[in-house]
Amino acid sequence: MSSLSEDSKGNMSSAINKALSSIPVKVVNTGAKPSNFKLKRRTVQIAILILLVIIPVSGLFRIDPENGALVVLGWQIWFADFFLISGLWIMIASALVALYSLAGTVVCGWACPQNTLAEWANHMTHKLLGKRAEVSLNGEAPKVAAAKNTVLNWSLLGLSFAGASMFFALLPLLYFYPPDVVWSFIIFRPDTRLAGSLYWIYFVWVLMILLDISVLRHFWCRFACVYKVWQHSFKTKETLHVLYDAGRSDECAKCNYCVTTCFIDLDPRKTQIYDSCINCGDCIDACNTLQSKKGKAGLLRFEFGQRAQTRAKTFRDNSILLLSRMRWTAPIALLGIVMFSWGVWSYQPYHLSVGYLKTAHNQSARDYRIEVSNKRYRPAQLSVSVEGLPQDGYTLNSSRVNLASVGRSSVFLTVSQKLQHGIHPFVVVVRSNDGWIGRLNLQHFVE
Ligand code: SF4
Ligand code: SF4
Repeated sequence: MSSLSEDSKGNMSSAINKALSSIPVKVVNTGAKPSNFKLKRRTVQIAILILLVIIPVSGLFRIDPENGALVVLGWQIWFADFFLISGLWIMIASALVALYSLAGTVVCGWACPQNTLAEWANHMTHKLLGKRAEVSLNGEAPKVAAAKNTVLNWSLLGLSFAGASMFFALLPLLYFYPPDVVWSFIIFRPDTRLAGSLYWIYFVWVLMILLDISVLRHFWCRFACVYKVWQHSFKTKETLHVLYDAGRSDECAKCNYCVTTCFIDLDPRKTQIYDSCINCGDCIDACNTLQSKKGKAGLLRFEFGQRAQTRAKTFRDNSILLLSRMRWTAPIALLGIVMFSWGVWSYQPYHLSVGYLKTAHNQSARDYRIEVSNKRYRPAQLSVSVEGLPQDGYTLNSSRVNLASVGRSSVFLTVSQKLQHGIHPFVVVVRSNDGWIGRLNLQHFVE
């Protein structure tokens, strides 16, 4: 008796899958439950997009290119604020690593704006050119429905893509400029705070987004996204995945609905540890909807833990798994929290520095520049004084510093020639009208 080789079986199975995939499945709505994961996912996706706008507009976080600083809630964060930046970074990184390890590339499916835009582009294409007009990942040309292949539909599609590209290309600008400056940019109002090359930069962004939503879409996710590869590196066989109830496989004999539902072009019944599944849950919704008509549960579900195990995990199982995942990220996260807390506690809203005053030829041995910086976007009044030197031993060109907003200003200190030979320790003291005191110890040497 002859038997088929493994290769032949594989080829035959993929041919059958391909043939089944080409059969569109129509689901009649019989009042089955709404697609839970899809609804939740759409809510999260929209919330993330809104958040991406709210973050810079509310001042929660933005970048100040003019002053070369990060800005959080109107406070400049300098690289010198090491503990604040490092602590925050460690906290975010360890939380994300725990998430990747636990839930895989769930960020792609539920939060990534690239995927959100790609799904929206797919939706618009289906709506205007027909259900089979796929920008397919296997290179097949889109099959445009004859009734929808009109100039009007193509124009509407092109205009919606162009509009979305122009809108989303504004998002990065909000992170570099205050909203009123971005508004000047939109209405072509002259504004000295706008860089001259900004329209070119914006144009390049528009082109990139247009290319992405017109052509790339999920090609990018599957073959080019480095961030996805980074997330993959933390996955294990226990990471959240789609589990297939193989014991009921006979119910799939004439069905491929989950396969046609997957916009990443996977067979949800055969997910692997390192495949492209983004845990969106659409396939689970699809099978649940089909099976609910027969009063049964779907054959697909999300599952943590070993793939070979088919027993449904209890809350206790999942809690133990979660804690075991946190075991090595928790100490790092704790370190981040401690560093961040220290950074917040020791944050200085002003910065004081003192250096020799450089002259045209050299630097003066008696003249000092006292530089005071304001790190907050609001007016500040500060007083400058010197302790440790006799009253007639120095002169300050001003004892007041007024700053309208962030920025720096200098006061010049000249030490008298009459000071005796030797070392003269002194302290530069700066007091702000809101109670901050900065002190810098120095030594003046007279030969
Ligand atoms: S898993 Fe569900 S949706 Fe997928 S082929 Fe089987 S019955 Fe159909
Ligand atoms: S296999 Fe299911 S969960 Fe994974 S990407 Fe496809 S539809 Fe989403």
